[in-house]
Amino acid sequence: MLERYREITGRIEDAARRAGREPSEITLVAVSKTFPADEIRRVHELGHVDFGENKVQELTDKADELGDLPDIRWHMIGHLQRNKAKDIVARVDLFHALDSVRLARKLHARLEMEDEHMDCLVQVNISGEDSKYGVPARKLESLLDEIGRFDRLRLKGLMTLASPANDPEEVRSEFASMREIAAGVEKRLKIGENGPILSMGMSNDFEVAIEEGATHVRIGSAIFGPRTYDG
Ligand SMILES: *Cc1c(COP(=O)(O)O)cnc(C)c1O
Repeated sequence: MLERYREITGRIEDAARRAGREPSEITLVAVSKTFPADEIRRVHELGHVDFGENKVQELTDKADELGDLPDIRWHMIGHLQRNKAKDIVARVDLFHALDSVRLARKLHARLEMEDEHMDCLVQVNISGEDSKYGVPARKLESLLDEIGRFDRLRLKGLMTLASPANDPEEVRSEFASMREIAAGVEKRLKIGENGPILSMGMSNDFEVAIEEGATHVRIGSAIFGPRTYDG
């Protein structure tokens, strides 16, 4: 695993340089779903702090177990049911999968209760097919306008899953579209000087995603190994 981690960080740096970008502009979110807290601990020992989970229960269990690591940053990358909104507030550093007004309202209410704020990305369904989650690109602007009033949600950028592909070149155009879409909605986001966050690219396509502008890549199996069941 540690070998694989080093290899992946090297490939991220190479992809960034190929695109004329600084490797420090790219955040690697190590997707630890289905793997035990001990394996997270081993990657953390290398100085890595960003970890992603796609299920609330698994995230909160691991966060509890690793509570002695104060610098760890948790990314909730999966679909969130409204009735679980209360469980991630104040525990998650970046929520990648906001995709409805109803969920935004629920999160906002809970954040208000706890006097907290949360950094969020809106998930865009760029493939336009079979994916259940994410807002279609054509509806993004109106969604952002509606959730913009929930001021406890800090809308930092966009997230997407590209279509499944054997060759990552097949989805380069999806990543490129995401960059254009993000640029088009920048004024509706609460972004800092580094521009919008673009969370895109996984084990099989992260280099192409970085070449097309990803700021966050979510990589699981290429670091932790194959999953025996699907998280
Ligand atoms: C599992 C998962 C990933 C990582 O997938 P790998 O192919 O293992 O790199 C990235 N994003 C989301 C939303 C996931 O659920």
